Amino acid sequence: MTGRTDVPPRIDEPAAREQVVEACRRMHQQGLIAGGEGNVSVRLSATRLLVTPSGVNKGFLEPSDLVVIDREGRPEVAGARVSTEVKVHLAAYRARPDIGAVVHAHPPTAIAFTLAGLSLDQRLVPESVVALGEIPTAAYATPSTADVALGIERLLRDHDVVMMERHGSVCVGANVLAACDRLESLEHTARISFLARSLGSPVPLPADEVARLHRLAEVQGGARRPHPAPATARPAVPPDPAAVDAAVQQVLSRVLDALQRGR
Ligand SMILES: [Zn+2]
Repeated sequence: MTGRTDVPPRIDEPAAREQVVEACRRMHQQGLIAGGEGNVSVRLSATRLLVTPSGVNKGFLEPSDLVVIDREGRPEVAGARVSTEVKVHLAAYRARPDIGAVVHAHPPTAIAFTLAGLSLDQRLVPESVVALGEIPTAAYATPSTADVALGIERLLRDHDVVMMERHGSVCVGANVLAACDRLESLEHTARISFLARSLGSPVPLPADEVARLHRLAEVQGGARRPHPAPATARPAVPPDPAAVDAAVQQVLSRVLDALQRGR
């Protein structure tokens, strides 16, 4: 039992509109979006999505400002302003039949990590391991292009939170408030990592503790993890240093044996 469900709970449109407006207000108040940045969507049904309009400050939306689009991104009401970034949302729903909402934002500290070439996937604090899981970063692609959506679609199959290099974050969840919680946790984790780095060299949680937290996340319905890990993927936990030492010693002694036999 993973605590997950493959079908997001149904939500009626008026409630969804209220939740999106509330989520956008939270994001704006916390500095996770600024100006006309960011966009939020909710899956109303298999064929209809509710999305924020483009070109306006999302911190001051009214429920009636939101736009309903189809699976191709076309608005139900002709002339409604739909963001070009809606491609990312459509890609997310294609990748994840289990999610009900997508939140795209520009969290400043988390983005700064991608600018500095640093991974946010450091397993420093247990809450982050449980709530966010691994946080991969999609390589830079010009915003609003199909390349951005492709990279996100691939990574979201196994993750709930993805960073886009030099751009922002994509967080998904069963509903918009859950996705927004992940966004807040992402920026909070980035701030903690930044502070820890400025004070010294933070040490990641031990591998066995990370494995324990992953099991906890499964029971609690926490963040998604790669399952099974593809052969080319980075290991979910760092290798045990003692095991690496033992393997190196073994290889070394075989090489020395071979050299001695060759004399
Ligand atoms: Zn953006």
